Amino acid sequence: MRIHELKRRLKDAGAGPLHEQRILRLWSHALPRDSGRRLPQSFFPSSLLAALPAIEAELAGLARLHAVHPGADGSERLLVALADGQTVESVLLPRDGLCVSTQVGCAVGCQFCMTGRGGLLRQLGSAEIIAQLALARLRRPVRKVVFMGMGEPAHNLDNVLEAIDLLGTAGSIGHKNIVFSTVGDPRAFERLQQGRVRPALALSLHTSKAELRRRLLPRAPDMTPEELVGACEGYARATGYPIQYQWTLLEGINDGEDEIEGIVRLLSGKYAVLNLIPFNAVDGVAFGRPSWERCKQLARTLHRRGILTKLRYSAGQDVDGGCGQLRARAVQDPVP
Ligand code: SF4
Repeated sequence: MRIHELKRRLKDAGAGPLHEQRILRLWSHALPRDSGRRLPQSFFPSSLLAALPAIEAELAGLARLHAVHPGADGSERLLVALADGQTVESVLLPRDGLCVSTQVGCAVGCQFCMTGRGGLLRQLGSAEIIAQLALARLRRPVRKVVFMGMGEPAHNLDNVLEAIDLLGTAGSIGHKNIVFSTVGDPRAFERLQQGRVRPALALSLHTSKAELRRRLLPRAPDMTPEELVGACEGYARATGYPIQYQWTLLEGINDGEDEIEGIVRLLSGKYAVLNLIPFNAVDGVAFGRPSWERCKQLARTLHRRGILTKLRYSAGQDVDGGCGQLRARAVQDPVP
């Protein structure tokens, strides 16, 4: 079910805008059942009360929590089983954040990422994206949602934008606490600006060299780093939020002095934060992670050169919940 279909069904059952808002709010706050009983009966028309149990059962059946893998840093990798037997993963992050998935698999095929290795299996519907939030809220409060899980959000744009609209309204997530993370896509840059909920934007840059980027992100839209930064800067100025440039540090590949010069050339004077993320180990992938000392040195050098840089330690790495480690798993996986 997609959110616009849910809204249509509610309307057909007699819901007005306030009824719809209350039901969407209950659902996205993990209270999907018995909304009729939670509110004064007089609040809902009787036709809606009669239709609600079936609709709520359908929402509850979209996804279920199959397994929880707690990390030492307070994160939790959630294995979510979908109604058709596919699975996705979400990660509860320390400090009230949730990383959600938008696709089962991914077509971009970044060389350092587990998710993309099996290609794209299917898109998630907008309601399945919100169902991940509802399941996560059964465990703890969520005040920030980042679209950095499985999949490229720009490849499932209609569903992701519908979910973002709900997150920023009935879902009670502050707009700048919603982060749309992309490898870069002209349609996404254009449509994000048009929504009533405009999220913050994270751009997976990874290198300042167009040719290397084509190799590392083989099926990303063919935009040069200069074109990407130009498009992002327009969005940053329109929304007032800095762009979060993501840079997975791969030893000997994109951690050299030449890349420092490239970053300075690209990002000087831009409304931007650069997040350096040391590569997380992925089975069968030959890349290495630079030493922590080298990562710190890179961050310090970039700071000195005027680039606002943060060195990020991915949450949940010890339970395969870090950046690039998520994947569709068989639901027979043992639960620890
Ligand atoms: Fe897809 Fe993101 Fe993995 Fe690249 S890093 S393959 S865009 S999920």
